[in-house]
Amino acid sequence: MTPNIETIAVHAGCEPDPATGALAPPIHLSTTFEHGPATEILHGYTYVRDENPTQDRLEAALAQLECPRQGKRGHELVRLEGSGERLVASGEQRTEGARSEKGDVAAKAREATTGALVFASGMGASVALLQTLEPGSHVIFPEDVYVHVRVAQQDYLPKWAISATVVDMEDPEAVARAIRPETKLVWLETPSNPRMNVTDIAAVVQAVRASVAPAALVSVDNTFATPILQRPLELGADVSLHSTTKYCGGHSDVQGGVLVLKAKGELYKKLYHTRMVLGAVASPFNSWLVLRGLRTLPIRMERHAANAMAVAKALEGHKRIERVFYPGLASHPGHEIAARQMKGFGGMLSILVRGGWDEAVSMAAKVRLWRNATSLGGVESLIEHRASAEGPGTTSPKNLLRLSVGLEHADDLVADLMQALG
Ligand code: PLP
Repeated sequence: MTPNIETIAVHAGCEPDPATGALAPPIHLSTTFEHGPATEILHGYTYVRDENPTQDRLEAALAQLECPRQGKRGHELVRLEGSGERLVASGEQRTEGARSEKGDVAAKAREATTGALVFASGMGASVALLQTLEPGSHVIFPEDVYVHVRVAQQDYLPKWAISATVVDMEDPEAVARAIRPETKLVWLETPSNPRMNVTDIAAVVQAVRASVAPAALVSVDNTFATPILQRPLELGADVSLHSTTKYCGGHSDVQGGVLVLKAKGELYKKLYHTRMVLGAVASPFNSWLVLRGLRTLPIRMERHAANAMAVAKALEGHKRIERVFYPGLASHPGHEIAARQMKGFGGMLSILVRGGWDEAVSMAAKVRLWRNATSLGGVESLIEHRASAEGPGTTSPKNLLRLSVGLEHADDLVADLMQALG
């Protein structure tokens, strides 16, 4: 029986240390690992930029959270390796070299399982995915997308001879119309940053598979929802992406990113190579911090979502608020889809303050408990005027404030917003 997600979050990647029995996972800070005289891999690892044991634990945990049934198989193989009954050292499957027959069987089994690759940041993960595309490829992006993904698209894709089309992802037919034979990637972000647009993941996957480019990858930036509330791979997507800097870490003290893939096939190998060559890998210490964050992720997401709903309801209908964007509200155009594909509506929301830039900034200036700061997904509540944070070229409405609802008492959060609205 597959355990529930709360149980997986507590235990995934946290097997007792085989050397000492320690229950808290050890951090292996070593940058290098002893090998044989002709670089034979002796203990599964070679160099920290390739991979390391702390990072392996985090990857096993994220793969299992994103895909509890399939990820478990990869997880069990990692366990087997950890127990000394090594079928194949985890470095061997990615490195050319002598392999036992048993090793080949294990490597094949691992290839069929969900694979996670952790990066130094969410942007590191995002750009690595774009870097796997060949010149001449075409990518489809949503209108509302994290600002630096838009910057990467605009600044780098033309130099790499990759074309892009921006569409309204709330309409799967608009995606279908934009697909070309050379489309290699359809980029989703749902709910999106900062407008909280909701995309029907399964409908987009269906549109892609029925199109002239059925093999195009569908990737989903799952940062806002986390694997606790939404699992894109189970809805047919090929890649689930996170800035683990946000909810996965959860305490505003670590930067990281991850790409979780349906299978450890060619794409996994390409991404592993890109990460290694560009040095975009997560450090052991950051991997450990994110792994620690994951253990409380389900319980935190429950409270983030409950608090966000309380804040959204309190603000909706307020005379100084023009609009509240929160997928949990029945008034949100994507509410039904979100209710279908998410287990909860998350801790992020955006509001339009009646008036313009000045009125929105003036509200942000008056909060006392909420902090004016960028980023999201930490225990503390944050408020941000996105147009000024994003700077020139922003597509955020001038009167939009983005709220990352933390874990304080909902009544205190609401009271502070009410006094700021006057
Ligand atoms: N994706 C989303 C939805 C984000 O909000 C962010 C950062 O805010 C990123 C990706 C990039 O992550 P990082 O800041 O870890 O590079």
